[in-house]
Amino acid sequence: MNNKKIHAIFERFRASNPKPTTELEYRTPFELLIAVILSAQATDKSVNLATRVLYKGANTPETILALGIEGLSKYIRTIGLFNSKAKNIIETCRRLIEEHGSKVPESREALEALPGVGRKTANVILNTAFGHPTMAVDTHIFRVSNRTNIAPGKDVREVEDRLLKVVPKEFQHDAHHWLILHGRYVCIARKPKCPECLIRDLCEYKAKTKPKELGVGVTAKKESKKKIIGSATRTGSSLGDTIRAVKLRK
Ligand code: SF4
Repeated sequence: MNNKKIHAIFERFRASNPKPTTELEYRTPFELLIAVILSAQATDKSVNLATRVLYKGANTPETILALGIEGLSKYIRTIGLFNSKAKNIIETCRRLIEEHGSKVPESREALEALPGVGRKTANVILNTAFGHPTMAVDTHIFRVSNRTNIAPGKDVREVEDRLLKVVPKEFQHDAHHWLILHGRYVCIARKPKCPECLIRDLCEYKAKTKPKELGVGVTAKKESKKKIIGSATRTGSSLGDTIRAVKLRK
């Protein structure tokens, strides 16, 4: 995909959602770190439900360490892989206290040395807690980058490197949030919502979903949808609206 198109895509994302951020709930870098560790192969919603209760009583390395693996497990047992996550989190708390003065380190190397923290988690922390222009490539970003042809790659690392190369500097800090939200609510895995996608004219995916494949069969519905899509395209504002509409429909 050429640079002009990539610039236009991110301009539309920004117009539609000027201040994107993670859907995980947090107030400190430490709360974010624990939430991101918990979110591996789990939904943000399930993590938020657990951390809302957990953080009321324990939201520092010392207080979570004091819970121990068993005590922490009670708060997170609704989240997949909670046993190994509890072990990693307790060990991470111990290391933060002993090696980093109870602070979350602002360095990739130090973050990746913590149990349960891989490259993607480190990228999220560096970006969202500390403002670095990193790309935390997850399954959604991987899919959207390949489908649209913004940054095709055979694995997440290739996509990450490519995004860092092709996304214009002005969009780099927020790019991964826009791409995640787009993949989560619009460019979904099984049947992307191409007819209501705000970048469909720029996207290079060859097998775009047709309106009838999305079950828009009734003429009246088609007409009203056309109007909505038309007005969203004209205003260039649709990702935020689509996300809100999808949430309301759920
Ligand atoms: S047009 Fe379809 S495939 Fe392309 S980004 Fe939008 S939803 Fe995804």
